Amino acid sequence: MDAFILLGAPGAGKGTVASMLTESTGLQHVSTGDMLREAVKAGSPVGLEAKSYMEKGELVPDEVILGIVRERLAAGAKNARYLFDGFPRTEAQASGLETVLRDVGGRLCAVFQLEVPEEVLVDRLAGRRICRACGAVYHVRNIPTKVDGVCDRCGGETVQRPDDTEATVRNRLAVYRRQTEGLIEVYRRQNVLVEVPAAGAREETRDRILAHVPPPEA
Ligand code: ADP
Ligand code: ZN
Repeated sequence: MDAFILLGAPGAGKGTVASMLTESTGLQHVSTGDMLREAVKAGSPVGLEAKSYMEKGELVPDEVILGIVRERLAAGAKNARYLFDGFPRTEAQASGLETVLRDVGGRLCAVFQLEVPEEVLVDRLAGRRICRACGAVYHVRNIPTKVDGVCDRCGGETVQRPDDTEATVRNRLAVYRRQTEGLIEVYRRQNVLVEVPAAGAREETRDRILAHVPPPEA
């Protein structure tokens, strides 16, 4: 198993870039945020536990996160290649991932740190809209839908994520600084960190990352 990680503040573009990368690289996109939102929608035990944390912009407990990640990876092939988005977010999650990789003889290939100035983050999150049906991501100014409120891809309704309101956004950024930013140093020391300027066009960010992802083995 090969693992790649997208690290960056909320609004840095992890989800957007991840979905642009999976097509050409054969990487499987693992977004803990998406998995949790699905669990909340389905009303599963994990969803019931996660909901209140997510609404406040707090982190869901590590054991819950490690549980869903382990379950997701157990279902995959031995030679699968994963792109983690929004995971790990704490040192405990990072060492949990390390354990999983060790158990299956997997390898952490690279950690892409998406660098975006704070003003850009806030603007991206406040203007973000997502499709209720397919999860496609838009922005009221930067990536508008052709028809207001309607997903280009599937015709579903586009809405603001409940945790994209201003107060929650501010808390998520604070939580990122407090609990996740420290991982940058951890991965720098392991020599796997790749710093990626990510305030520009999505295609630019994608290409910077692609340069570090070898094509899948034949
Ligand atoms: P963003 O990166 O824009 O905050 P995500 O979709 O990654 O969006 O996460 C949304 C919310 O889901 C987080 O605020 C948090 O409550 C929860 N969450 C997602 N991934 C994790 C994780 N690895 N650890 C703890 N909580 C998480
Ligand atoms: Zn859609």
